[in-house]
Amino acid sequence: MSVKSFNLVKIRDQFPILNKKINNHQLVYFDNAATTQKPKKVINAINEYYSEYNANIHRGIHTLAEKATIEYEKTRKSVSQFINSKSEKEIIFTRGTTEGINLIASSFVKNFLKKEDEIIISEMEHHSNIVPWQMICEENGIVLKTINVLENGEIDLDNFKELINDKTKFLSIVHTSNTLGTVNPIKQIIEICKKNNITTMVDGAQASAHSKINVQDLNCDFFVLSAHKMYGPTGVGIVYGKEEILEKMPPYMGGGEMIKEVNFLKTTYNELPYKFEAGTPNIGDVIGFNKALNFISDIGFDNISSYEKKLKDYASNSLNKIDGLKIIGNSKNKIGIFSFTLKKVHYYDLGLLLDSKGIAIRTGHHCTQPLMDKFNLEGTARVSLAIYNSKEEIDYFVEKIKKLIN
Ligand code: PMP
Repeated sequence: MSVKSFNLVKIRDQFPILNKKINNHQLVYFDNAATTQKPKKVINAINEYYSEYNANIHRGIHTLAEKATIEYEKTRKSVSQFINSKSEKEIIFTRGTTEGINLIASSFVKNFLKKEDEIIISEMEHHSNIVPWQMICEENGIVLKTINVLENGEIDLDNFKELINDKTKFLSIVHTSNTLGTVNPIKQIIEICKKNNITTMVDGAQASAHSKINVQDLNCDFFVLSAHKMYGPTGVGIVYGKEEILEKMPPYMGGGEMIKEVNFLKTTYNELPYKFEAGTPNIGDVIGFNKALNFISDIGFDNISSYEKKLKDYASNSLNKIDGLKIIGNSKNKIGIFSFTLKKVHYYDLGLLLDSKGIAIRTGHHCTQPLMDKFNLEGTARVSLAIYNSKEEIDYFVEKIKKLIN
């Protein structure tokens, strides 16, 4: 157990927005899978960068440029420690998970897979882990296959094993589903892939704020995430890739920063990770991301897991008692993400009504249309919990839904 203590009041105090009134009611923010709120230290760090040492990084010799470079590179070191990569060179900054997946599709899959090779994803993927593969497959004559999702929202491992053959070269899978809350048996899936020489990519967008990620232990080849789902700013994410694989890959974009030397006969590329970071990056937000990682580490994953599990069980029990409410996704291993339908109320109306009471939930297909098709749904309402949510907020939410039904 972590020796750090868990204090919900102190945690909530760090988020200025949680004190806000929305439509004359205290905000209850249950849309954390879309993006989490930001603690003061993240907001202050971004403010400080722009007010105290705004400068471009890496090339400058003046004081501000040096300070900005040091702070930017500190985040790389923190991310490396946070996900336990072997080296900081394995951390590439992107705009987010979506850009990370596109980078891997354009730079790895396009160059190392050939016509008729096969890629496996699953039915529970976010559109950003479907469309880039469809695009690259169409362009290069590669075949895309999907693993079935079972009725309870778990991945069908037998079906996964059946899909593998000599042509399977790449797997991209979500760690934790943004619609079902399912936590996939990632380590087991990667082990199967390793035995079959399949390169692996994990979409960690929904996982990295809720459980400890250890990329060396997972043994994945690539891991992608977004800072904004981890109490950090929007417009920042990372690609983790094993150094030996990243070394072999060509740059994703050309431009400044990613070169060693440019001339009209031959241009040589910069070393890792800069080879993949063309142009001026999102400096202020990368610096802010470091504070989000500090925020998570200060609480500790032991505390986060145990509190979030209690909250998830509480929400699950409360929701299951509501007449006509059906939760989509009841896997044994899941986080506090509840997609649901109500017999008498359309999810869109529910979303609007709850908003009038200060409660923010998400409605729609959650960028997982194939999964909605699978369950014969157009969309659902979705509650997604984070570390600052409370049992009282769940009670308030349940009370409002019950009132609506009656
Ligand atoms: N994958 C999953 C599982 C997600 O939940 C999301 C965001 N909803 C993404 C990918 C895309 O992340 P981003 O929009 O930050 O690029």
